[in-house]
Amino acid sequence: MPDTSKQISAPNKLTDTFGRKISYVRLSVTDRCDLRCTYCMAEEMTFLPKADVLTLEELHLLSEAFMDRGVRRIRLTGGEPLVRKGIMWLIERLGEDVAHGRLDEVTLTTNGTQLPHMAHDLYRAGVRRVNVSLDTLDPVLFRSITRRDRLDQVLEGIRAAKEAGLEVKINTVALKGLNDLEIPTLVSWCIDEKLDLTLIETMPLGEVEEHREDRYLPLTALLPSLTEKFRLTPSAHKTGGPARYYRMGETGNRLGLITPLTGNFCDGCNRVRVTCTGRIYMCLGQDNHVDLRTALRSNDPDSALDTALGTAMIEKPKGHDFEMADGQMRGTVGRHMSQTGG
Ligand code: SAM
Ligand code: SF4
Repeated sequence: MPDTSKQISAPNKLTDTFGRKISYVRLSVTDRCDLRCTYCMAEEMTFLPKADVLTLEELHLLSEAFMDRGVRRIRLTGGEPLVRKGIMWLIERLGEDVAHGRLDEVTLTTNGTQLPHMAHDLYRAGVRRVNVSLDTLDPVLFRSITRRDRLDQVLEGIRAAKEAGLEVKINTVALKGLNDLEIPTLVSWCIDEKLDLTLIETMPLGEVEEHREDRYLPLTALLPSLTEKFRLTPSAHKTGGPARYYRMGETGNRLGLITPLTGNFCDGCNRVRVTCTGRIYMCLGQDNHVDLRTALRSNDPDSALDTALGTAMIEKPKGHDFEMADGQMRGTVGRHMSQTGG
């Protein structure tokens, strides 16, 4: 349990009771998506009614409230952020915030399907980096993981992003019995394409059709063979996130490993997540949250947000409780990643 007796040192800045400064927000702009990745969503999802979702103007006001309180980086996510109608309006506003020095960076995590027609607009709006999720280069496996036949579209999106001048990092969820044998191929492809790659262990977020344990692949088990094959050397690179990084021998590209189940690295956590309904989750792996939408829609949003964010900082937990024990995944939370924002 967090120690709620401690005072927050600077009421307007976001510092939690463990002294961690929050400078990074992952803002989910929609829970909807054009893919249905088996580890992320059920095939038949009930999406939120539109009325519950913050408007684009509200999302921008909330972003500015975070900037006023010391946040320097915003990552838009979802669901699939690029399927939200009118999303370029928000990205352009955040790009202006970057241009005016209010924000260091606006970035996105995307499945890439919309990049063929949006990459240039993103660059023009001030985005410089995107994370694209890609779990396989095999069209048949892509279809079975995402339940949609869109690999070509995603690869075209990655090409379009590079052409537009965006730095692309690939995110791959390691899935036992699905893409495990293909991971070296993905690493080689990223080396050829001069892309950084982050491998992620599957986490127990929300009910899906499969047993999470059946797909769990501990990345620590892959590391020795990857180190030998790709001459990995540990890198000191840090983002305040859970990844540990390695340099890849030939090109020096980065390989990141996110290992929430084999190693908990929450000590330096600098982030919070906000859903598209305006709930702030202080930890991906915990259920406690604070409603910011009511504060945002109140008569005095600034002071209401101060109070709500103050509560959020007091309640930010030390870390998640994900772990594998006796062949069972523990620390499960009920929300899907697509609801919290990945
Ligand atoms: N639709 C976008 C995408 O796929 O990049 C953004 C949202 S998605 C929820 C963000 C990231 O979360 C993706 O890289 C996805 O692979 C990852 N993800 C989703 N469910 C996960 C789970 N249960 N465990 C680990 N990663 C997960
Ligand atoms: Fe959609 Fe991203 Fe979830 Fe896949 S991981 S279903 S692309 S939100």
